[in-house]
Amino acid sequence: SRQFSSSTALHKIYKSRFEDIQLEQKPLGQFMLEKFEKFGDRVALVDFLTDRKYTYAQLRSSVVKVASALTRLGYKKGDVISIHSVNIPEFSILLLAAASAGIIVTTSNPAYTAGELSRQLEHSNAKAVFTIPQLVPVIRDAIDSSDSLKELANKITVFGESEGCRPFSTLMQDDGKAFPENTTINPLDDVCVLPYSSGTTGLPKGVMLTHDNIVANVQQFRKLLKVTEDDTSLGILPFFHIYGMCPVMMGVLVDGGKLVTLPKFDPEMFLKALDSHKVTQLHIVPPIVLFLGKHPMVSNFDLSNLNTITSGAAPLGEGLTNEVMTRLKAVIRQGYGLTETSPVTHLDVIPPNPGSIGCVIPNTLCRVVNAETDEDVAEGEVGEICVKGPQVMKGYLNNQKATDEMIKNGWLHTGDIGHYDKERDVFVITDRLKELIKYKGNQVAPAELEDLLLQHPAVQDVAVIGLPDEDGGEVPLAYIVKKPNQEVSAHDIMSFVEGNVAHYKRLRGGVEFIDQIPKSPSGKILRRILRESLPKPV
Ligand code: AMP
Repeated sequence: SRQFSSSTALHKIYKSRFEDIQLEQKPLGQFMLEKFEKFGDRVALVDFLTDRKYTYAQLRSSVVKVASALTRLGYKKGDVISIHSVNIPEFSILLLAAASAGIIVTTSNPAYTAGELSRQLEHSNAKAVFTIPQLVPVIRDAIDSSDSLKELANKITVFGESEGCRPFSTLMQDDGKAFPENTTINPLDDVCVLPYSSGTTGLPKGVMLTHDNIVANVQQFRKLLKVTEDDTSLGILPFFHIYGMCPVMMGVLVDGGKLVTLPKFDPEMFLKALDSHKVTQLHIVPPIVLFLGKHPMVSNFDLSNLNTITSGAAPLGEGLTNEVMTRLKAVIRQGYGLTETSPVTHLDVIPPNPGSIGCVIPNTLCRVVNAETDEDVAEGEVGEICVKGPQVMKGYLNNQKATDEMIKNGWLHTGDIGHYDKERDVFVITDRLKELIKYKGNQVAPAELEDLLLQHPAVQDVAVIGLPDEDGGEVPLAYIVKKPNQEVSAHDIMSFVEGNVAHYKRLRGGVEFIDQIPKSPSGKILRRILRESLPKPV
């Protein structure tokens, strides 16, 4: 087979069917700003709600001004700033401005509660927060909840206006003269963005992605997913997540496409945006593919310009893929990756292979191993997917142990189970080894919910697993052991969780009371036993 390259008894390394690329190694800001020069007066970014627009020339000069303003404010290479915001054009401007100055950006889900946010602000050691006016109260609560965050109270900048906060417009009015021209950034080593992911196990961790990780990945997936100056795409996937940040934001802007940003998924607004902006390329997650396939409202809009849909972040079945391709007369191809791989490692080709994640992208190697022995399984057999390439993260922030557990001899162990399909020359993901739950493409870390539930006065022990769900992919289900002589209902437990976490982490899978949580001798929750005890879907 073409993807099968070298073979010894123990090593089956799959290479891309596409030739490797001579990758440019540059800091992200420089790499993108150079590209913008070519596209001048073409529209780069549009805010769908207000129709606020930036041409490439304006985008470029805004990035220069904001980088200069950040420098004047005293932020410098290696500092961390937080962007806690929905998708708007200024998110991209700020991200690229920070990158140009070597400032690291940590991003978080705007749905976070104050508790969830304060943990990330503390852990990442953020020196400033950039947000929208509506989120200022949550940010103030997060800051008030911890002494170590007090200094952030007068370091909030808003896209818009809010009392006691610096308006972002003042940064946009800078003359650009303090642009940090002489800051040297080592793309291979210096961290560019710090999104959070729970990875294989435990709580969300800061994923250190270098400038080269992002710049390499853009060049890699661009080979298979080319945007042209005539393309229009929707920024509907959140920019705080690596999928929205890299393939969508950077992927569209690097080649001169137009990116129309939407602050959230609202069915009618989404369809209106697709129709009125004549969107040609769309990046979405499986629940939105499902919506496009099934919802009657879709027929009321003209989506005839749409030619390519890319779906990622969670599995997309063959049946649904075919159904939507027929309904919309557009190609649907699946992509695969992780926050820890910047994110793309696999992407389907055209014509697509529904139900598969396609092939390995250029400059990336893939193995399928027996998770227990770490030895490669025979071609076509099921095992853990491992990858190697320039997009693999530098590591988890201040967590060498978790980094070493995930990256062994340069191979990143994805925690996903799949196989190589020789006939179609593609890879297929069939299961997940790691404990991570994904609801509508959003990460739900069982450890985080378990930590929270253990704080409930009636809970003795707990384990959270994912329950398969047609709408959301998976929903969290909690197994609870009650404390002796305590009465508590499933409803009480669910409301307790609801009050403390972002909406997508709620216990939509319900609560089951049991006598004991199955554990290994070392105390690890045996999630597989709990999963196997679930009634099989009919
Ligand atoms: P995240 O870091 O949030 O992007 O989550 C990465 C995880 O999402 C992967 O390890 C997979 O478990 C899952 N995932 C991403 N893309 C796909 C896909 N196309 N099919 C199945 N699972 C996927």
